[in-house]
Amino acid sequence: MPIAETIQNFHRDLPAGVTLVAVSKTKPISDIEQAYQAGHRDFGENKIQEMADKWESLPKDIRWHMIGHVQTNKVKYMAPFVHLIHAVDSEKLLKEINKRAAQNDRTIHCLLQVKIAEEESKFGLSEDDALEILRSSRLQEMPHVQVDGLMGMATFTDDQAQLRREFERLQHFYNQHQAEFGFHTLSMGMSGDYPLAMECGSTMIRVGSAIFGERNYH
Ligand SMILES: *Cc1c(COP(=O)(O)O)cnc(C)c1O
Repeated sequence: MPIAETIQNFHRDLPAGVTLVAVSKTKPISDIEQAYQAGHRDFGENKIQEMADKWESLPKDIRWHMIGHVQTNKVKYMAPFVHLIHAVDSEKLLKEINKRAAQNDRTIHCLLQVKIAEEESKFGLSEDDALEILRSSRLQEMPHVQVDGLMGMATFTDDQAQLRREFERLQHFYNQHQAEFGFHTLSMGMSGDYPLAMECGSTMIRVGSAIFGERNYH
């Protein structure tokens, strides 16, 4: 199906309160333009250099989401324009984001990535470590970062019961602390599992291949 049509179908069917991030990593500018012309504005990338290149050549009202793991020394390349950083997994990274945001005279919105996969996963905070960051006075000393909520990646599996357990666990943690921290964004769900993620309270889905087709490399 053409990209524009797929995007329009998503916009027609998405429940109110759920934002679609179209994951355009590895895809050419022309694919993003088709989605843009269909009215879409939120795009996700997992490599900072690729996102910065695309930002330079595309309309400036696009909201760029960094969905991948972030290396501290690369924050400066996206600090002038990034809309939301989804996968913050350390206080050190938050500190660097705060510093670069200040230099650019802006506030950068972030999500903390929480480990939900039952399989061993490299990235993400434990719930306890996330709470420690959120409650620390050091976060109060970072006026240029705003933690909007949480992000999770489920196990790569077809096992619906397992996916549901993982999503529900994050939903529970999010709901438990929503008022305390003023959360309003729960980023979970990809092409293979976004309907289930939305059932489990996701407010932001990150969908790549279901919009742009399979990727040749990751
Ligand atoms: C690539 C990626 C996605 C999108 O994956 P699809 O299966 O193509 O929808 C979502 N989230 C993250 C963090 C990704 O790296």
